[in-house]
Parts: sequence; structure tokens; C-alpha cells
Amino acid sequence: MFRRILIANRGEIALRIIRAAHELGIEAVCVYSTADRDAPYLRLADRAICIGSGPAKDSYLNIARLMAAAELADVDAIHPGYGFLSERPDFSEVCRDCKIEFIGPSPEAMRRLGDKVEAKRFARQAKVPVFPGSEGAIEDEEEAVAVASEIGFPVIIKAAAGGGGRGMRVCHNEPALRTNIKKAKQEAQAAFGDGSVFIEKFLEHARHVEVQVLGDKHGHAVHLWERDCSMQRRHQKIIEEAPGPGIDRRKIQGVAENAAKLVKQAEYAGAATVEFLMDDQQNFYMLEVNTRVQVEHPVTEAITGVDIVKQSILIAAGEPLPFKQRDIQINGHAIECRVNAEDPSRDFMPQAGQIETWEVPGGPGVRVDSHVVPGYRVPPNYDSMIGKLIVHAEDREQAIRRCRRALREFEVGPIKTSILLHRQLMEDSSFVHAELDIHLLERLLK
Ligand code: ADP
Repeated sequence: MFRRILIANRGEIALRIIRAAHELGIEAVCVYSTADRDAPYLRLADRAICIGSGPAKDSYLNIARLMAAAELADVDAIHPGYGFLSERPDFSEVCRDCKIEFIGPSPEAMRRLGDKVEAKRFARQAKVPVFPGSEGAIEDEEEAVAVASEIGFPVIIKAAAGGGGRGMRVCHNEPALRTNIKKAKQEAQAAFGDGSVFIEKFLEHARHVEVQVLGDKHGHAVHLWERDCSMQRRHQKIIEEAPGPGIDRRKIQGVAENAAKLVKQAEYAGAATVEFLMDDQQNFYMLEVNTRVQVEHPVTEAITGVDIVKQSILIAAGEPLPFKQRDIQINGHAIECRVNAEDPSRDFMPQAGQIETWEVPGGPGVRVDSHVVPGYRVPPNYDSMIGKLIVHAEDREQAIRRCRRALREFEVGPIKTSILLHRQLMEDSSFVHAELDIHLLERLLK
């Protein structure tokens, strides 16, 4: 087992990893940028090392500085969290070269599943349903037109190396496709350093449903069932829940089992999420595989009782999974609301500055994952998410009631947050009746 690990991240996920490490009897070393210098969660780490200035490229994205800190602190392993370097195979590779365990997949497995085109190839082998579309990357305009006429419009052009909702273009007809294909390639090259693009059928109405999987280094993989993350704004999730309401259990079981098979066949060790869109007939189409822990992992932890962060540390240390598929049962329903420092009344403008009031809810079935305390100053440099509220209850109706109650208790000021929006969404009849759709939130905001 590891003696000491380094956390190559910040904020709520850094704190989440500190907690998991300490419960496993492992020391946790944090790194921080000067913008996070006074962050109180750093005091909970066994050691905190400054690695540079506020801009992420000078600190949390700087591999050389992270490796210097790892060397200095003499750690056995590095946990990348999510975002930043978590999905960069070169980082996983540098760790391996330095004989420091990367808490996540090997660079090879990350490349296999992190690239959207490669992942689809593996998905087909594991009988995981994928979108109708190009088999691999599209070479030119003519190939794009040929594929589109086969699957029918509308289609979506995507960057193989894309992420974060960027690098996608929806085309409703052939002229639009012709003009967009070249632009999409150039854009992908500029944004991701890889100009490969592919085409798939664009679904007008869909839900976002994803399957959590854990794979170990001994060839085992289990799924932890699904989450529904349809409540999105600009492709960013804002509410997530588990299990997916109204989904045929037999159907999702088949999809989830094949998702676990996909991870196993890719010889992948660690936590992975296989993301799907689900249409009105509950047909599933794989979007991509995320090769890291996700923001919304706590809803799955709540309903399965599995600590995903601890498990990923144990997996990296070479431990076999301590459970079998049949041990993973669903207990109740969980909902997560992301608390973002944004002003919903001003087009979600990110808010920076001092938080004076921070009163978090408590009581049965309520969990708040956040690094914020009263007096915390939100730096302007990073993602606007400052915490997550997770509620767990016996069923969806009770979970919504509990969520409303918790949101009433949650007071933050003077900066604006998404809490007010969540209070409204928990009363919205489409949400309450689980009439979910990836465009629902945007429609409600109009
Ligand atoms: P990213 O890696 O940037 O998150 P994804 O492929 O996961 O990209 O897609 C992000 C979001 O874009 C999805 O949750 C969905 O809202 C929308 N989207 C992606 N592909 C399609 C599609 N084929 N049809 C309809 N919407 C799509």
C-alpha cells in the first residue's frame, strides 16, 4: 500500500482525495498555486507545496513542477483528480517513467479509451451501442457527405480529441456540412492539437445517461450502474442523479454490463465512465469514455455504498476489486446539485471574491463536498464550481423533497451562486416528473 500520495489538483476534489487517503492511512501531499495560497483545505493535507502562480499552465498544468513536488515530498503515487492533467496520457507516462504510480489508467489504456474514435472501435467489439456514423476519422468533405447521406441529417461533427463541450458542430443539410467540415478540422487542430474529426447522427431529443465502471489490474471490471445527467447548460452538467428515473432496468443492465466489458477489454485499471445519449425509445448510443473520476461520482457512491475515490487508490496500489458484480445493489435515489459561483441573472457570469456567508445544510441523507469555509476567497483563475450538494433518500420523490429542504438551508453570500436556480429547478414540473431531456434546462432558462 502507498505511504504517501500527491494530489495534482485543487479545491473540492483535492479535499475529497485528502479524506479518502487519510481513511486509508495514507499521507496526502497537496500542491497549490499562489492564487490558492490561503485556501483552508491545504491545512488538512500532511504537506502543501507551492508550485507556481495562478494561471493553470504555470501550476496545475505544469508537469515539470508537479514532478518536482512529487520528488521533493517523496510520494509513491499521484492522484490527478478531474480536469487539469487527469486525461493526459503523457502525464500518466511521465509518472510511470519516474516510478511513481499514477492513480488512474496506464497511458496505453487512456489512449485507447480517451480518444473518441478509438473508444468507438472498442465499444463495437464489446457490443456497446454507438451512434450511427463514420467508422473512424473523416478524411475529406466527400467522405463526410457520403456518411451523412447514409445515416441522414441532422449530423454532428466532433473532434476526436475534443472535450468540455467544445469542438462540435451540428449540420442540418449538405451545404452546411460542406462548409463546416474544413472549419471543424482547423478548429480541432488549434484547440486540441489534433485535427481528426468524425461524424455521428445528431439526436434532437435525448437524455444523457452514463455508466460508472471500476476496473482493476487483475482483469476484473464491474459497473456501478448509471447516472442521469440530462440537466445541462452549454453541455455542462448542473444536476445529476442516480439511478436514471424511468429507465427499463433490464435494458440498462445489459448496457452497463457491456460497458464493464469494454473497460475490461481495454485492459483499463481505475475509475471510468461510459457516457451515452438515450433516445425516446430508450435506445442507447455511446458518446465517449471519461478516463478519470467524475464530478458527479458521489450520487453513485450514495446508491451503491462504494467509495469510488478510495477504490481507485486501492486499484492503483494493485489491490483486486473487493466485490463482484452481483454485490453491487442499488439502494434508494441520490441527487447532486452543483454549486457554481455564477450569477444566473447575468448569463451565469463567473463570480470571484470573498464568501462571507457559507451555511451548509445537514441532517439525514445530506452530504456537501466543498473546500469553502466562511471568509474563503474564490480566485478568478479556475472553474466556477465551489461545491456540491448530494442528497440521498429511499426514492426519487423523497430525494427531491430532501433536496428542496437542504437548498433552503444552504445560504451563501454575498457572491451569487447557482443555489437559487436549483431551488427553482426542484419545483419545476418537468424535472419533478422526470421528463428529462438534454435541452430542458436551456428551455427553462429562456
Ligand atoms: P465532450 O467531450 O465535449 O463533453 P460529448 O461527446 O460528451 O462531448 O458531448 C457533450 C454533449 O453534447 C452531450 O451531453 C450532448 O448534450 C451533446 N451531444 C453530443 N453528441 C450528440 C449527438 N450525437 N446528438 C445530440 N447531442 C449530442
